[in-house]
Amino acid sequence: MHQTNKAIGVLGGTFDPIHFGHLRLALELYESLDLAKIHIIPCYQPVHRKLPVASPEQRLAMVECAIAKERALYADAREIHRGIPSYMIDTLLELRQEMPHTPLCLLLGIDAFLGFASWHRWQEILEYAHIVIAHRPQYQLPTTGLIADLVKKRLQHDITSIHNNLNGTIVVRPITSLEISATDIRKQIAIGRNPRYLLPDDVYNYIKQHGTYSISQV
Ligand code: ATP
Repeated sequence: MHQTNKAIGVLGGTFDPIHFGHLRLALELYESLDLAKIHIIPCYQPVHRKLPVASPEQRLAMVECAIAKERALYADAREIHRGIPSYMIDTLLELRQEMPHTPLCLLLGIDAFLGFASWHRWQEILEYAHIVIAHRPQYQLPTTGLIADLVKKRLQHDITSIHNNLNGTIVVRPITSLEISATDIRKQIAIGRNPRYLLPDDVYNYIKQHGTYSISQV
């Protein structure tokens, strides 16, 4: 297949708030996969989990603060602007229409990938994108079941397949393991602890300014 465009990455999430675990995942995969850009896409409202504490606009603003100085990363507000809970398949369909000749790589932490078979129209996702699993040593891919079967069929060890094809392969890449979670950051802030060094200072300043995670909200 002939293609001219470099692959782009798509990192969806709640980002309540965005932290260095998310940012290292994005930057490390950007570099190791030689991606053109990574779209960081905060969801309006997650479909599979409880409601976020910060509003969609606040979570988007925190993503924008976090990546303002990083040209590799782009804050993509499409799901927030849609204003309804949306599924990743819809977002990928939209991106595919906008970029018909660009390979798309859906970036997932391995913890998120383990729940992949519960996603809306999950079997179709590989028709629109590749899946890149960011591996962290404390998690294992299953050896039996739907996810294991999918990985067996689609896993490639050579990353050239993500640049030579628009979609359809799964690759697993190691990333630096940072045990940071948004839930834990919110709890720390709510009890008055300092979350510095877990997330960018600009994001923490935004949280302080807006009182985003006060004890009554978390
Ligand atoms: P929470 O703690 O509330 O569950 P979270 O920190 O896991 O939130 P999400 O917005 O749900 O954040 O995650 C978005 C994506 O980032 C998912 O693919 C998830 O696997 C990945 N991710 C989250 N935390 C880390 C981390 N510390 N290291 C690498 N990837 C991460």
